[in-house]
Amino acid sequence: MEEDHWSCESSADTHEDIASGTIERFTPQRKFADRRMNVSGARTYFYVNEAQCEKNMETFLNCIDAVSDATYGTGFAAIKMTALGRPQLLMQLSEVITKTRNYFEKVSGHKGPIISAGVGIDVFEKRFKAENISLPENPEVDSWMKNMTYDKKSIIHLFSWSGLIDTNILLTDMFKVPNLKTGKLENLISALTREEEEMFKNMMRRLHTIFQYAKDRDVRVMVDAEQTYFQDAISRLTLEMMKKYNTEKAIVFNTYQCYLTDTLDQISLDLEQAYRQEFYFGAKLVRGAYMEQERERAEELNYEDPVNPTYEATTEMYHNCLKECLRRIQINKETLQEDTQRIAIMVASHNEDTVRYTVRKMEEFNIKPLDRVICFGQLLGMCDHITLPLGQAGYSVYKYVPYGPVDEVLPYLSRRAAENGSILLKLKKEKKLLWKELGRRVVKGQLMYTPKGDYIPIGASRV
Ligand SMILES: Cc1cc2nc3c(=O)[nH]c(=O)nc-3n(C[C@H](O)[C@H](O)[C@H](O)COP(=O)(O)OP(=O)(O)OC[C@H]3O[C@@H](n4cnc5c(N)ncnc54)[C@H](O)[C@@H]3O)c2cc1C
Repeated sequence: MEEDHWSCESSADTHEDIASGTIERFTPQRKFADRRMNVSGARTYFYVNEAQCEKNMETFLNCIDAVSDATYGTGFAAIKMTALGRPQLLMQLSEVITKTRNYFEKVSGHKGPIISAGVGIDVFEKRFKAENISLPENPEVDSWMKNMTYDKKSIIHLFSWSGLIDTNILLTDMFKVPNLKTGKLENLISALTREEEEMFKNMMRRLHTIFQYAKDRDVRVMVDAEQTYFQDAISRLTLEMMKKYNTEKAIVFNTYQCYLTDTLDQISLDLEQAYRQEFYFGAKLVRGAYMEQERERAEELNYEDPVNPTYEATTEMYHNCLKECLRRIQINKETLQEDTQRIAIMVASHNEDTVRYTVRKMEEFNIKPLDRVICFGQLLGMCDHITLPLGQAGYSVYKYVPYGPVDEVLPYLSRRAAENGSILLKLKKEKKLLWKELGRRVVKGQLMYTPKGDYIPIGASRV
């Protein structure tokens, strides 16, 4: 795992000029370099070099082709951002996001996310004035203020993230903030070499290639959620990609891990951003696959455990996130005449109670299966006793199929089979149900029986 530890470290030799130093939580740790540790429900990509990332991109493009051909554009493809670039960059960007919030709090006095603070740029002007930083005398600060993302309501981001994904601006040039004492701009991101800046551009280019291709082929793409020290960046970049590609329908989907304590805040803010910046919002709701690793790392580095304290708290978080999405969908349904599919959600869970809860809440919020705004997702070969009845009842339901070169996919599948005890328990239940159905068919003389469902397959009109 030495290689992966290396891929998380910058080769730049100075970290001295960064505002407020580095945050240990976002630094690579040898002990956690094997990101597969205690993770059997998700595939892990290790960074080898840029050529390998290029190959991974090709695999994702082939996957989009396969989805498009097999499902007439109604299916999904899934990607992982750590497969498409050097993970260190995602770690450094995640650190920048935390530091940006800290800086915002220092200047405005408002704790928490920027978009929900209701702070306009006038608050920054006043604060700079109070610190004797005059804008006409400090043109750098003046143009820094003009580059913020804001609307009539308030500041949305301190930086132009959409500019970052679309232009050739360097990360080190973008993430600077005015020092409140000197008025000089100082770096918020650790130093990066030219080569690393180039790697970031490559990562953005690969993402653009995938999403543009998916849009052209009318295939939706889920961006998987990963470890928290990458996830802030993954989520932020995905939101900006949504803004760019989800202009006519939801093509890009983000993933929200409900085992995290701040997920309701996060999804509420992202829904708000989608509403204010007028793009289609796509999300997959999961409980989260990296719990043991997250907890162990937090304990080792002495930061607050990002995971909910109990399984029940995770379930409550899942329910609350789902309800927030349904609430917004209901408002859209009631207020928009057409174009009511501005929010699309995948409930990705093997938990029968979660599926039942979703079906019940859909009824309560008056959201019908045919509204095509909520769908369900399970892994291939798992929980067919949940997938099939859902499909027959007219709900949109998808199976996740591992895709890629055989020599890469097989080791992942065998790890899952070997490690995931709870999956085997669910398979046991499925086997029992299959035997029961076989017995029923023998008794009723229905061995060749084909159940008739009262449903329209999704995309049927286009087949
Ligand atoms: C289609 C699909 C896509 C997925 N994509 C992703 C992805 O992009 N990123 C990702 O991280 N995961 C992903 N997962 C995996 C998912 O996060 C879960 O690990 C897995 O589905 C098990 O959760 P469940 O709801 O199915 O089952 P359950 O058995 O009901 O839940 C198990 C989960 O509950 C949580 N949990 C268990 N014990 C505790 C505890 N003591 N305290 C707090 N929480 C606890 C953990 O998240 C654990 O995985 C995906 C799953 C599916 C089906």
